[in-house]
Amino acid sequence: MRWTERQLGMLKEMGVAAFWPMQPMQPMQPMQPMQPMQPMQPVPPANAAREAAPYASTEPGAGRADASAARALAAEAIAQAGRGGDGGHGWPDDAHRAPAASPSEARPQSPRPPARVASAVPATAPPAAPEVVLGSRPVGIDTMDWPALREAVSGCQACGLCQSRRNTVFGVGHEQARWMIVGEAPGEQEDRQGEPFVGRAGQLLDRMLAAIDLTRGEAGPDRQVFIANVLKCRPPANRNPLPQEVAQCEPFLLRQMALVRPDLIVAMGRFAVQSLLKTTDPIGRLRGRVHEVAGIPVVVTYHPAYLLRNPADKALVWDDLCLAREVQARRRQGA
Ligand code: SF4
Repeated sequence: MRWTERQLGMLKEMGVAAFWPMQPMQPMQPMQPMQPMQPMQPVPPANAAREAAPYASTEPGAGRADASAARALAAEAIAQAGRGGDGGHGWPDDAHRAPAASPSEARPQSPRPPARVASAVPATAPPAAPEVVLGSRPVGIDTMDWPALREAVSGCQACGLCQSRRNTVFGVGHEQARWMIVGEAPGEQEDRQGEPFVGRAGQLLDRMLAAIDLTRGEAGPDRQVFIANVLKCRPPANRNPLPQEVAQCEPFLLRQMALVRPDLIVAMGRFAVQSLLKTTDPIGRLRGRVHEVAGIPVVVTYHPAYLLRNPADKALVWDDLCLAREVQARRRQGA
């Protein structure tokens, strides 16, 4: 049906806003199928009592008879709540407790102190100190040649680390290298492969050496370094070496230093530095100057594994390598 202008004007005058202005009809959306109705939950007794109670006391103008009836209604609701316990709804009483029926019960209850809850995290006992197991060390290490020294290390049982190692890690490189790199102890990959400084830290060391034209690969003694660790066997789970283990293993490293007779040693990492220099000072206090062990200059710096976590300190290590290069140059000129 279409309205004339006159009819529209009349409808407007009559205030029939529903037809003014005319909106084009929207196509109807298909009806959604009705969801099945959820069965109604019975009102919990607590709610019933709460709903009934106000009428018993606050209805304005209620007569005495009405008030009595309301009180009776409230009492009945409360009685139902009391009978119900959890009302069979599975609600815990604490969560849906009905209002108290007597004035004394109606007083607000003082808040309960929070229950003590046993901590879910068991108290952690400090890790037990690793047991020190020492055996007999091969004799005559300080006079061994390279083959004897290699054999002595591979069969060494002078400390408990021999029980958990896969391989001893003797060292690699040129036996008359000008530079000797000393690290700490084998990690997991070193233990598997029997070579020091492998994995990401080893790759970083290779790049650092390449930056000063050195290598662990085949080359002459001017360019190929010799790399060894203070400890020849891996501490379990990469724990810190024990002083007794370091002491037992130290003669092997000292003999390697004596056989290589490098121009200088670069000690990398806290344990290597502190073991070689017999100090507990941190690297930050020891780097930047030249130390000496068995007549060989020692420059200390951070371990490549540390640099992987703290790349900003690569600049410090670069300074240390430049210092080492200067020391070697002076030594060469003086030789
Ligand atoms: S760590 Fe050194 S002293 Fe201990 S078993 Fe290995 S080679 Fe021997």
